[in-house]
Amino acid sequence: MHLFKVSLLGLNVVSAVNGYTTEFDASTYAKADVVNVDVAIIGGGATGTYAAITLRDLGKSVIVVEKQGELGGHTETYIDPATGTAIDYGVQRYENTSVATKYFDRLGVTYNGSPMPSYTNATVYTDFTTGKPLTNFTPSFNFGPYITQLERYPFLEWTKDLAAPVDPDLYSSFGDFLVKYSLQDVAYSIYMFSSTAMLQLPTLNVISNVGLKELGVHTTAIGVVSEKGNHIIYINALKVLQKSVLLSSTVTSARRNSYGSQLVVSTPTGKKLINAKQLLITIPPTAKNLAPFVLDTKENSILSHFVAEGLWPGIVKISGLPAGVTYKNAAPETLYNLPTAPAINSLTPTAIEGFYRFYMFNAEPMPYAQARAKTLASIKAFADAVTGVSTEPELIEFASHTPWYSKFPSEAIKNGTWHELYKLQGYRNTWYAGMEIVLGSVALWNYTSTLIPEIVAKL
Ligand SMILES: Cc1cc2nc3c(=O)[nH]c(=O)nc-3n(C[C@H](O)[C@H](O)[C@H](O)COP(=O)(O)OP(=O)(O)OC[C@H]3O[C@@H](n4cnc5c(N)ncnc54)[C@H](O)[C@@H]3O)c2cc1C
Repeated sequence: MHLFKVSLLGLNVVSAVNGYTTEFDASTYAKADVVNVDVAIIGGGATGTYAAITLRDLGKSVIVVEKQGELGGHTETYIDPATGTAIDYGVQRYENTSVATKYFDRLGVTYNGSPMPSYTNATVYTDFTTGKPLTNFTPSFNFGPYITQLERYPFLEWTKDLAAPVDPDLYSSFGDFLVKYSLQDVAYSIYMFSSTAMLQLPTLNVISNVGLKELGVHTTAIGVVSEKGNHIIYINALKVLQKSVLLSSTVTSARRNSYGSQLVVSTPTGKKLINAKQLLITIPPTAKNLAPFVLDTKENSILSHFVAEGLWPGIVKISGLPAGVTYKNAAPETLYNLPTAPAINSLTPTAIEGFYRFYMFNAEPMPYAQARAKTLASIKAFADAVTGVSTEPELIEFASHTPWYSKFPSEAIKNGTWHELYKLQGYRNTWYAGMEIVLGSVALWNYTSTLIPEIVAKL
């Protein structure tokens, strides 16, 4: 049997001809297509971009592998071609913390204390299936008793590192939690923050989404000021990172061992081989996304528990609705008036009259084309019923943020799987930092800033 010996990253890779794959052999690539870096970062959304900038500023070499044609992930900005008006329909508010403001200053991004400008002068709670407003329905915003319960878990603002035994309230259903603590009157308002089919979810998965920071209990919020909207963060970051970002690219196969990682990356200009001392994964931890990284038994025993929902934010143009009215979807016949998924949470006026922001959500992922068709049909049915004529709503933007919010189901929470995930950090020179760890851009930047010294220490 003939053996090849290839020296990569100071590691000797020996492969047999039978079953030998050349894809990890640097000598089979053009020199320019072999990239040696300290840290390879998978995903160029909020977390991956922050990690790349921070590591670069520490003098470390990085490469970011991003599936889409731009950085930013859930930060979605529509620029109206006619007027140049920017409408953000993804991420738009940030907690006013030093981690956030230092990052914005570093990137030359201007901010102020007015996130999410409002164009609403009236709110109508409407059954989106019939277009009929709900009479005698006024949701409560008395979050006080809910906040009292949240204060039992202040750490959840920034981490979910929960070891067994876990407080049973956290893995029992949120529907039960509402009843147990007499929080039924704010159920609808919590749902409006969460946009999830929340009653069946474990309490942890709702309160870590609609928590103290989302309700602005201990923090104030800031917003970005730019004619490019929130995307300015990622436009400026790309200017800093330049060739350290591979856009429209994905990892197709990988080898990880105690010396580092080798990643084969499919890019618009062909395959590249990346040799990285450390690997930081910030993409949703789905089986499909993680398949190229060939998880071992220990990794699988933790990461295979993740489940996710479906979320599709967008902008729709509708004619004939009164200006300045936000329509919130409320079901007349269901518990707490929560719409049954899949459903649109609301239609919110934007800077352009007749253009509305919305989220479509479902308890589980759904193919993009199916979600788009359901969304359009649902908005048309609503608009036809409200205006009394046949309307032609136009989807100006329809983004997929699916899989949305990867999280552990009840049993895994109970068993302390979150703690096992935190303990996995650095195992096989691989690190995890993304929306599954903690929700919200600033919380993610905060968490990533604590992870980076550990990554650097291993270089
Ligand atoms: C509609 C909406 C509004 C939100 N508003 C706010 C807000 O106002 N404030 C706030 O703090 N948080 C908000 N959030 C939460 C927000 O998602 C997080 O704050 C943060 O953006 C998540 O960052 P992330 O890096 O984990 O994920 P993302 O930003 O989604 O980044 C993940 C990146 O990985 C890429 N990717 C996925 N799969 C692959 C693959 N296989 N290979 C390579 N790349 C891949 C994606 O394209 C994406 O760029 C909002 C979320 C949504 C959906």
